[in-house]
Amino acid sequence: MTGARLRVGGLTAGYGRVAVLHDVSLEVEPGELLGVAGANGAGKTTLLGAVAGSLARASGSVALDEERLDRMPAYKRVSRGLALVPEGRQIMGSISVQANLDVTVMARGRLRVDAAHRARREEVLALFPRLRERLGVPGSVLSGGEQQMLAIARALMTSPKVLLLDEPTQGLAPVVVAAVTEALAALKGAMTIVLVEQNRRVLEALADRTLELRLGRLAAPAAQRPAS
Ligand code: ATP
Repeated sequence: MTGARLRVGGLTAGYGRVAVLHDVSLEVEPGELLGVAGANGAGKTTLLGAVAGSLARASGSVALDEERLDRMPAYKRVSRGLALVPEGRQIMGSISVQANLDVTVMARGRLRVDAAHRARREEVLALFPRLRERLGVPGSVLSGGEQQMLAIARALMTSPKVLLLDEPTQGLAPVVVAAVTEALAALKGAMTIVLVEQNRRVLEALADRTLELRLGRLAAPAAQRPAS
């Protein structure tokens, strides 16, 4: 699997009467990892929210391959292959790590954990061996890095074709940033990825191409990864 082509056209989004994202268009090739840089408040989280369908006030087009998703609620977009790892992890602290992974079974339209779900869980845990050791503990007990791994693992449980990540290394110690970067490097090529990140080193290590958001608009490419 190499993911789907993500096409975003004329996306404008905001909160209440205020638009914070203006006419953003971009295209990400199947299997490509697009970096999105930008200062605090530039609209990065708003961009991902509008693509994922979690913002009420958004207009413009969002398509995976040939299918338009922009009229669909967020949960349907997940079922079409679009998954978001939100800023601040947002894992569930009161239930176990395994339960955090297993709540995604409903995103696949099932009510119970079945063999396909268990098989996917094994694949995801192979990428995050540390989580396997912590399956029985409540989410709240995890370190910041482990919580981030869990947030990524939870998104992967839905077998996304396009994965959106909102500042996955924010607030993490350098050694943990390295571990998260390594995990994302292992995912590269297996799906299309949009990585919002303020850490330039992480973008340089991972992104095929990086765009910059400034005041809610896309600016010229901030950095191009040198051909290796
Ligand atoms: P950060 O790196 O700080 O998360 P960002 O680039 O992700 O920044 P956004 O969170 O998308 O930026 O915010 C863009 C603008 O929208 C900011 O001016 C912010 O104050 C505003 N904003 C964000 N969330 C809301 C909200 N729920 N209600 C009103 N305004 C909001």
